[in-house]
Amino acid sequence: MILIIDDKPENLFSLKTILTLHSFPVDTAESGEEALKKVLKNNYALIILDVQMPGMDGFEVAEALSGYSKSRDVPIIFLSAASTEKKYITKGYTSGGIDYITKPIDPDILLLKVKTFYKLFEQTRQLNEMQEILRSEIEFRKKAQAEINAKALELKSILETIPQLAFTTKATGELEYANSQWLNYVSSAFRFPEVHPDDKDIESSFHAAISSGKPFEMEVRIKRIKDNVYRYHLLRVLPVWENNAILRWVGTFTDIEDQKQAIKRKDEFISIASHELKTPLTTIKAYVQLLERMSKDPTAQNYVNKALFQVNKLDKLIADLLDISKIESGKMKFDKKKFRFEPMLSGVLDMARQTYPEFVFEQKGKADAEIFGDETRLEQVLVNFISNSVKYSASRKEVFIETSITGENKLLVSIKDFGIGIPKEHQQNLFKKFYRVEDQVKTTQGLGIGLYICAEILQRHNCDYGVQSEPSDGTTFYFSIPLN
Ligand code: ADP
Repeated sequence: MILIIDDKPENLFSLKTILTLHSFPVDTAESGEEALKKVLKNNYALIILDVQMPGMDGFEVAEALSGYSKSRDVPIIFLSAASTEKKYITKGYTSGGIDYITKPIDPDILLLKVKTFYKLFEQTRQLNEMQEILRSEIEFRKKAQAEINAKALELKSILETIPQLAFTTKATGELEYANSQWLNYVSSAFRFPEVHPDDKDIESSFHAAISSGKPFEMEVRIKRIKDNVYRYHLLRVLPVWENNAILRWVGTFTDIEDQKQAIKRKDEFISIASHELKTPLTTIKAYVQLLERMSKDPTAQNYVNKALFQVNKLDKLIADLLDISKIESGKMKFDKKKFRFEPMLSGVLDMARQTYPEFVFEQKGKADAEIFGDETRLEQVLVNFISNSVKYSASRKEVFIETSITGENKLLVSIKDFGIGIPKEHQQNLFKKFYRVEDQVKTTQGLGIGLYICAEILQRHNCDYGVQSEPSDGTTFYFSIPLN
C-alpha cells in the first residue's frame, strides 16, 4: 500500500485518483502526526510526502520515520515546490530510498517513479522472504547434522562396550568405523577380517545383501591375528533407515567357535552312542523273536510281544539317531531306482492299520505312478507322517491319505489328520532338528528328529514339502515328487 501525506485534501484526492486508476492500493494522511500514527499501525511499500505542511513539515516527518525500525527502509517520494529543496531532502532522510517530484505534478513522471519504487519494494520483499527461508533451511540442516553426529557418537560408544567385533559401513558397504575388538582380527578398521579359504567371501555376500536392502546373516571362520587361528563367527548386518533411505549398515561378528565345537562333540557322541546301542539291541531283538517262536504259553507270548514292541520302538529311535549322524556327516546314502508308488503306499497303509487298529486310514485318489527314488527312504517319510498323525490326534481317529498328479507332472501326496493341530508360529520350524511344539513336549514323547530326517530325504528327491494346520482343526503334511 502507498501512503500519501498532504495537508490539502484536493491534492490528496488527485494523487489518490491517479494511483488508484493504475491499481495501486492507497492510504492517505492529512498531517505528519496522522501519518506517523498510521505508519506504526500499517505496512507501507512507499510514502509520498508533501514537503510544505503546517505543523510538522515533510522533512521533520521523514526524520521521524527514519527513527522507526518499521518505516526506516520504506522509500519516500517528496513533493516539493522547487528543485532547490533537494539538498534538504537528502540531508533529512538517508536510510530508505528517496526521490522527489516538483510541483505542479506531472502524472506520468509520478507514475514512473511510483512503479519503479513499487517494483523495487516487491523485489526486496521477495529477496527477504527467500533469505528467511534459506536461513531456516540452514538452521534445520545444522540441527539435523548435529543430531546425526550425536547419534553416531552414541552408537560408537555402545559398539565399544560390547564383546563382539562391531562395525558400521556407509550405505554403499564401505567400512567407516570398527570397534577396538576388531583389531584382534584385522590390523585396519577399513578392511574385513581374513576368511577361511573354504568359506564364502564376506564382501561379496554382504554386497548381495546391500542391493536387497535386507538384514544379512552368515556363519564364517575368520583369522585371529595373534595365533593365526580361524574361529567361527556369526556375522549379522542390519540396515539403518532414515527417510526411506539406508543411511548406513551396522554389523557384528559374534564368536560361536565354542558352540560349534560343542555341537560337533554332541554329534560325535550321538553317532558313537547309537552305533554302540545298535549291536546289543540287534542281538536282543533276535533272541526275543526266537522266544516268540518257541513259546507255547499264551501269557508268555503276550509278554514276549510286549517286549518286542518296545524293542522295535528302541530300534526305530536308534535308526533315527544314526540317520541324524549320517545327515550331519553328509553320509546319508540313497539307493535310487524306478518303482511303482501305489504298492508301496498300500503296504504302508496295511502296516498302519495293523499297528493302529483303532484308527481309520482312508485313501483318496490313485497313485499309480512310477517314481525314481529310494523306496525305503520315501516309505520312511510316509511312515513318519502317518505315525505323527496318529500320535497327535486325540478325539477323531481318522487319517486321510490323498494322492494326485499335479499339472506340473508331480505326484502330490498329503496326509491329513483331525488332531490337535499346530499353531502358526511353530509351523516354519517343524522341519528343524530337535524342534518340538512347546505344549506338546509335556504331553507326548519324542525327540523332534523325525521331520528333520523327512526334510533331508525329500530335499534329496527334489520334492516340495510343507505343512498346513489350524490348531484344533487338524494338520496336513504334504510333499510332491517330480515324475520325470
Ligand atoms: P517328534 O514327534 O518325535 O517330536 P517330529 O520331528 O516327528 O518329532 O515332529 C516334530 C514336532 O512337530 C512334534 O514334536 C510335534 O510338536 C509337531 N507335529 C508333527 N506332526 C504333527 C501333527 N500331525 N499334528 C500336530 N503336531 C505335529
